[in-house]
Amino acid sequence: MGGFGSLSRRCRPYRPCRRAVSERYCCVAQEQERGSNPRGAGPEVFERSLPPKGWIYPCTKDELRAALAGFPPEHLEGLHAVGLAPATRKDCWANGRYFAGPPALIELYSMACDLTYKQSPYVKRHHIERGQAVEVAYGMRVERVGARFVCCWDLEPWKRFVLGHVLAHEVGHHVYRRSRRRAVNVGATRNPAESECFAEAYALRHGEGGPHGL
Ligand SMILES: [Zn+2]
Repeated sequence: MGGFGSLSRRCRPYRPCRRAVSERYCCVAQEQERGSNPRGAGPEVFERSLPPKGWIYPCTKDELRAALAGFPPEHLEGLHAVGLAPATRKDCWANGRYFAGPPALIELYSMACDLTYKQSPYVKRHHIERGQAVEVAYGMRVERVGARFVCCWDLEPWKRFVLGHVLAHEVGHHVYRRSRRRAVNVGATRNPAESECFAEAYALRHGEGGPHGL
């Protein structure tokens, strides 16, 4: 994904199912990292302006702050900011991204107000149900419209998915990045597949329903 980071794809091209999990998110590739957050301070929370019509954020800044308070503070060390950022028509296929920085940053993205997105014509229902099983478990519906499948959310389930899973996944990338950096002691060795697995496992453990449930 040259230069881009952890993201959960909303529309994704068909790929062999073996790669389905790693295709749902990918890793930001900026190579340097520097802790920019003193111990205990917590990341800044921001909200960028949306275009006047047509887009919606999954949550408010207060809801985001409350969700961040559910993580162990040491997992957020060095994370400069977490916030809401506008998707665009060209780049509307990510739920969230982690940027290793510096400064380390997590962005959670808006969605078109109808909370639906089309999959590509090659994607079948079982691809979605397998590749986006977490989304389906959170309440995303898969409906057929003509020859294509459309993924549909209601606001509450989408909010729960973003705060309860996507955010935890991106924090997982940050935790992985920092632990990896400590482990090799000389700059993190990039291993996107391992980072994906770590982040997804972290999200399932620390997200909604985990021991540090949001
Ligand atoms: Zn990821």
